[in-house]
Amino acid sequence: MKPWYITTAIDYANGDPHLGHALEKIGADVIARWHRLQGEPVRFLMGMDEHGQKVFQTAQAAGMSPQDWVDGISERFETTWRGLHCSYDDWMRTTEPRHAAGVQALLTRIRERCPDDLFVGEYEGLYCVGCEEFKQEGQLLNGRCGEHPSRELVPTKERNTFFRLSAYRDRVLALVEANSAFQVEPQIRRNEILSVLREGLQDISISRARLPWGIPFPDSDEQTVYVWFDALINYLSATGYPGDGWDAVWPADLHVVGKGITRFHCIIWPAMLIAADVPLPKQIWAHGYVQWGGAKVSKSEGESASLDESAARHGPDALRWFLMREVGFENDGDFTFERFDAVYESELANGLGNLASRVLAMVGKYRDGVVPAGGEGDLPGGVGAVALASYAAAMTATDLKGAARQITELVTEANGYITTAAPWALAKAGDDAQLDAVLANLTATLVRLAVMIYPFMPEKATALWVALGQADTPVTGWGQAKRPDVVGAQVVKPENLFPRLAP
Ligand SMILES: [Zn+2]
Repeated sequence: MKPWYITTAIDYANGDPHLGHALEKIGADVIARWHRLQGEPVRFLMGMDEHGQKVFQTAQAAGMSPQDWVDGISERFETTWRGLHCSYDDWMRTTEPRHAAGVQALLTRIRERCPDDLFVGEYEGLYCVGCEEFKQEGQLLNGRCGEHPSRELVPTKERNTFFRLSAYRDRVLALVEANSAFQVEPQIRRNEILSVLREGLQDISISRARLPWGIPFPDSDEQTVYVWFDALINYLSATGYPGDGWDAVWPADLHVVGKGITRFHCIIWPAMLIAADVPLPKQIWAHGYVQWGGAKVSKSEGESASLDESAARHGPDALRWFLMREVGFENDGDFTFERFDAVYESELANGLGNLASRVLAMVGKYRDGVVPAGGEGDLPGGVGAVALASYAAAMTATDLKGAARQITELVTEANGYITTAAPWALAKAGDDAQLDAVLANLTATLVRLAVMIYPFMPEKATALWVALGQADTPVTGWGQAKRPDVVGAQVVKPENLFPRLAP
């Protein structure tokens, strides 16, 4: 069975991972885990973009060989992503031989199928080393790159190989307009791409002269493959292309990228694949940026909250939660420590954590830790089942913020139910049947919540799941989330899931 294949953008190996990178990797991980919850086999690719002038220059400035430099950076990124519970199952580095083989095979195939669409020409223009891209007049802000306003653009003149991108304009435009076989989401990004396509496309340089740090261009002594052309192909080379079995994984079901690199993924990449007669990815999702004090978080544009500091503040799962719940995965969103602390305290410590500890303590106190029979397996009015359905719909639509909101609202409902049902009063009055029903309903709701939080907070979800007397991990618990059945389960009080902040 073909796995559901999801990728993230690969990051330039020229600095440390930051919150902007983390938003993308965590969002993709939430989506991958959601698909695993549905029982689908998933292939999840992340990696590093290790070629290009910027990486070469950064390594030189650090007094290191480029290979030693990227080895260190790759390890640093992997350690960070594993620490944030990113569950990728392939890590692609573009300096790997398997990638070079895929790049050269794709280029050779394009040359064989469409010989007129690769041609040699002169290029003269302004090059942004930050973007690794030639900039056209219309893309400049005050004479500078909008993504990298602190960098000088470099006037560059080269004799390079070009890809006749203009010849693919009509086909790509038709695909993006149809938004069916090849989808660009969310709509605001699709509209941007449509307007770029309607203005018309220029042919693009796909080789760089005299830049030794790159993949040799097929049949050329002095040219290397332009870093962007090289990088895009990682999604395909990770399938083993062109070796046996690559098409058992390809096409990708979802490329998750930032909104700043949609032109590459939504225009150049499909054109390259059309030229090579390789199937297109099914969807591109372009998320917004993490803002810090109103400015985009990025290494190249100055200081921002350190990712390590943010992860250490309340633990990795809390950071995952805050990025998805508060910053979001569609538009830009603000990150401040004040807001992070407030959300942690209200939603996690006083919300979910408090709910779990109260319910499990009461089952322990009144029923010796064994979940009693009785109740409907839901809160009054079936609000848990409704929340679960809304959550599933939001996840399917990549509305991760909306899905997280369903979790918070269900926690609030459950905490309110404890207050109205007052189990301690039922115990005092000796109303055993009603007490059983209330405890059973609350425990069932916790089971449901453990599954719902799993994509967002896998470590806490697993701790809660085990405390509820369930085996292994909630990844197999979707059936339990739909119709919780925990009667007779032996529960334990977990260690404090989300300790309150010191006053
Ligand atoms: Zn730039």
